[in-house]
Amino acid sequence: MKAALLYKNEKKLRIEDVPVPEINDDEVLIKVKAAGICHTELHFIDNVLNAGKYPIIPGHEVAGIVYKKGKNVKSLDLNDKVLLYYYRGCGKCDFCINGQENLCTNPEMEYGFINDGGFSEYIKARETDLVKLNDDIDIYSIAPIACSISTGIHALNMAKPELNDRVLVYGVGGVGFGLIQLNKLRGCRVFSASRNDKKLDIAKKLGSDYNINTYNENIVNKVKSMGGVDIIYDLVGSNETIKNDIEMLNKAGKLVLIGYDGSNVNINPLDLIINEIKIISCVGNTRYELEEAVRLFNENRIKIVIDRFDELKNINNDLEIIRNGQAMGRIVIKFD
Ligand SMILES: [Zn+2]
Ligand SMILES: [Zn+2]
Repeated sequence: MKAALLYKNEKKLRIEDVPVPEINDDEVLIKVKAAGICHTELHFIDNVLNAGKYPIIPGHEVAGIVYKKGKNVKSLDLNDKVLLYYYRGCGKCDFCINGQENLCTNPEMEYGFINDGGFSEYIKARETDLVKLNDDIDIYSIAPIACSISTGIHALNMAKPELNDRVLVYGVGGVGFGLIQLNKLRGCRVFSASRNDKKLDIAKKLGSDYNINTYNENIVNKVKSMGGVDIIYDLVGSNETIKNDIEMLNKAGKLVLIGYDGSNVNINPLDLIINEIKIISCVGNTRYELEEAVRLFNENRIKIVIDRFDELKNINNDLEIIRNGQAMGRIVIKFD
């Protein structure tokens, strides 16, 4: 089967022929239909994150159909549409028992992070790694939900915004478009910030109340002139944005860290202390949050913004488009 592989210290993925995974009695072989490309892929390429093995097949937003199943698999049938939950916790640690698989101290699997993910024609998983989808669902469009929307739900659950809170989504893209909609569902007033007017137009269509182009405007002055914000979801995570966050937050505000660029941040604790600013960090999402994302999608209460579908062979070009900030939503690799 064709797959895209990341080798250590290589700047491009290699498209190679690799064996189709063999399944045991407890596993399912999934024919991948769609796999979204997340910004995290660039963090691996740039060595901001280390993969658990090299070469690795990245890709953690994976949707497909059940192609083969082991004899012990009871809850899924052939041709069922499924979405991959990209963590498989140990099931034994306190975090797993508490439904926080994303914090498992000894994860068995993290598809696309420590073991092979979905930029390949087939992937194997256990039935417990999969969420069964409705038969009539658009399998190609739903794939990015597995990280983009689910990560947004996790951030929302961590930040706990309340009715009429003023929230800023700083850096709109896959997760940011989800956060705009989720915070609107919570009854918040949403500010969106981006350097790109096209992304801000999409943000507005999704319900953003106030848009700020950070290329043309001084975001700190603008937000402060409008009364500041109570919550900032920082999807950039640079020294500059975090410094700005602390200036823009109202007293007792919450800074929610989701994005990162690998740089160190210089913060004076006094600026946090005198304003009682809380810093909240988010990683991934729980399985429950993924199921919640699927329910919202089924109920048509959330939209997934897709820039384009593309073929696996073009993945390096797609990654460059994402790196340059030119993707207006997710780019999704589509398989036949
Ligand atoms: Zn992701
Ligand atoms: Zn665990």
